Amino acid sequence: MSKKILIIGGVAGGATAAARLRRLDEEAQIIMFERDEYISFANCGLPYHIGETIKEREQLILETPENMRKKFNIDVRIKSEVVSIDPKNKKVRVKSNAMGDYDESYDYIILSPGAKPIQPPLKGIDGPGIFKLRNVADMDRIKAVVDRGETKTAVVIGGGFIGVETAENLKERGLEVTIVEAAPHILAPFDTEMSVIAEKELNDNGISIILGNGVSSFDHEGGKIRITLGNDRVLETDMVILSIGVAPDTGFLKDSGIGLGERGHILVDDHMRTNLEGIYAVGDAVLVKEYIFQTDAAIPLAGPANRQGRIAADNIGGFDKKYKGTQGTSILKVFSLAAASTGNNERTLQKMGLVYNKDYKVSYIHPMNHVSYYPGATQLTIKTIYDTNGKILGAQAMGYEGVDKFIDVMATAIKFGATIEDLKELELAYAPPFLAAKSPANMIGFMAENEVKGLVETFRSEELETFDPQRQLLLDIREDLEVETTGCLLEALCIPLNSLRDRLDELDKNKEILVYCAVGIRGYIAARILMQKGYKVKNLLGGMKMHEMGSYRAKEVDSGSNDQGLSDKKSLVSEAPTRVVEVDACGMCCPGPLMRAKETMDILKPGEVMNIKASDPGFFEDVKAFAQRTGNELLGVKKDKGIIFASVKKGNSNLSVNAGITGDSPVANPKDGKTMVVFSGDLDKAIASFIIANGAAAMGKKVTMFFTFWGLNILRKDEPIAVKKSFIEKGFGMMMTKGSKKLQLSKMNMGGIGAKLIRKVMRDKNVESLEALIEAAKKSGVNLVACTMSMDVMGIKEEELIQGVNFGGVGYYLGEAEDANVNLFI
Ligand code: FAD
Repeated sequence: MSKKILIIGGVAGGATAAARLRRLDEEAQIIMFERDEYISFANCGLPYHIGETIKEREQLILETPENMRKKFNIDVRIKSEVVSIDPKNKKVRVKSNAMGDYDESYDYIILSPGAKPIQPPLKGIDGPGIFKLRNVADMDRIKAVVDRGETKTAVVIGGGFIGVETAENLKERGLEVTIVEAAPHILAPFDTEMSVIAEKELNDNGISIILGNGVSSFDHEGGKIRITLGNDRVLETDMVILSIGVAPDTGFLKDSGIGLGERGHILVDDHMRTNLEGIYAVGDAVLVKEYIFQTDAAIPLAGPANRQGRIAADNIGGFDKKYKGTQGTSILKVFSLAAASTGNNERTLQKMGLVYNKDYKVSYIHPMNHVSYYPGATQLTIKTIYDTNGKILGAQAMGYEGVDKFIDVMATAIKFGATIEDLKELELAYAPPFLAAKSPANMIGFMAENEVKGLVETFRSEELETFDPQRQLLLDIREDLEVETTGCLLEALCIPLNSLRDRLDELDKNKEILVYCAVGIRGYIAARILMQKGYKVKNLLGGMKMHEMGSYRAKEVDSGSNDQGLSDKKSLVSEAPTRVVEVDACGMCCPGPLMRAKETMDILKPGEVMNIKASDPGFFEDVKAFAQRTGNELLGVKKDKGIIFASVKKGNSNLSVNAGITGDSPVANPKDGKTMVVFSGDLDKAIASFIIANGAAAMGKKVTMFFTFWGLNILRKDEPIAVKKSFIEKGFGMMMTKGSKKLQLSKMNMGGIGAKLIRKVMRDKNVESLEALIEAAKKSGVNLVACTMSMDVMGIKEEELIQGVNFGGVGYYLGEAEDANVNLFI
């Protein structure tokens, strides 16, 4: 007798299972139930139709019910929701638009109901203008609103893949977009120092990001939505996209007897079988095993859903197929950037109790996607994690080209249990337009081998927080030009690599030498020189680039795009009456582009222009600093598909970089900045300092506020933040005021009444509250710097401070004070 198989859910997992079943068994009776109107549509393409990259809506509908019927003889029933399962009598209850309510019997079921967007019970969440994006109907609703052209602003709640893709596509449609994320960073599959690369790309493309702040309510007023965040800040917007994650769509299974996990995921064995006979489950709704450690995981991705659908069908069709686990290999487009990962990230490993350097190691490399001498090379940033036996545990990559190829190599390596030793031996296709003879995967293998075999010791950027000049020496091995343009870390001794052998006598053999360069390679060469000369030395993993990424703070940006004066490549200055010199520094790693820029500017006359393009991502910031330091005018800088285009006009002052830095000659920019040490945590003094700062910023001055000791209280978040602290740190934390709202007056505080009074008086006199003053300061670019030394002493962690704060030590502050003509101590 032929089998009767019901499939619940007609998209990724369900449609795949149905087609496979038919190919295995021509006689089976297959019925597919889909609650919505469409089956087999491309969920993954939905954001791109909103953004109009995918122009034709029909392209997203991969298969119609009629086609499924004709091609596979499958009885497709759309607008038919299965509302319950009765395993005892082997039947399901269906609510159908066309057929009313009825029962359908079964021999087998494949459940593929997917996952639905999480919708927390917040005030106003069901109101108008708040959307989610799961299916075609959701997409149609969002697109219709955007198409009307009246919507100017959107807030995307949640910085996961769907949130980021939707944010990008709304931006492409001309909306002003803000992403609000409750976690400290967006894109959970990536570790902090990698996700900030995506945050920066979003910022550079004009998307604002608010991190570490969740939503507490929505209010609807006059067509606008007012979003109140956890810290009481209110955002006003025309449209909200809710994408704070997904939950398994398994409510209808509650009373079925099917085993469900804590969050409602269907529990299955390695054959995709549930605990009930004849019932299989696949896709976003099931709890899977993570491939490497075989721990329980919920990983909602299309690839696994499709493969699981096929396995369930195979097992019903008489084969014996196992699902071996999900690696979480995923990739995302963030404007021109590609962000991809596979396997575990460090956060996951640490949650499992694994310890860096004891249980696992990390490597960073920044290779070009193909040889640098072939035009169009762009740089990748790659992080790889491997255990102490060399087994690869995970990889993350960001870049403009070649990210997909690299991550697939690593995903395949992980699948087959490869070690870093195996990576060295991989033979990958090479010709100049495609790769380098030493592929990134080979490079990781070489680097990791160096470390494992003791040829080099490494340290991570965080270790600089405990830098001790008594027993350590920080050595910057970059070229003078790089140091002069970007500054160096702490009080590093700067000796360019090429001079190192001649200047060894400047290094104290009794100290541990912490060496660094831009990306780690020259640091490694220096470390090898020094180790062989008997020095104890460690190289900074990933170089200054990873250090900088680690300290990048996502921000709120002006509504413009990344074009800072250049709207597209063509608008590079080309019709100027004076000479314009074109420089192509693509394929060059730092300091190559800077050197080319300097050489060119040195030969230009005042008023002449250099148009330079470079593929080194760091050049986007470097060229701004270079122009400022050298007294030249940056006419514009923009990024396009990983290439940075900048236009710099030669200034009149004819300053060399050295002159700007050392002060031997007139400096490039007048020293009219204002700096302030905010030592006090008193409300009145905090208000005064922010009023002065905002005033100076309004006059176009560069303002830096350096918060130290009690002043740090002003920057603390007012909600409790879960961070690990020692006993003493906890004690300190309890005694210290938490956030601007709890500050007290320096005089006449009267148990807090004074503080309340002053706030009321300020309100009555239309003076902004301290919190509003802080926001205004951030918006006008006041540099809020938390003193890392005080944070360390007082046990305050970065996560405890409000968004938008930078971190720096005394050296950093003094550097800022150098460029200022007013310096206040409050
Ligand atoms: P789904 O494809 O969600 O299908 C479940 C179907 O079951 C739904 O149509 C639902 O209506 C139906 N259903 C639920 N309950 C019932 C019921 N009781 N009766 C009848 N029908 C029911 N993954 C990637 O790997 N890469 C990407 O780039 C990517 N981008 C995405 C972008 C968006 C906007 C979205 C929403 C998802 C994206 N995904 C992506 C995730 C991917 O789409 C899912 O992992 C995949 O579709 C899961 O397949 P599934 O069969 O488990 O569930």
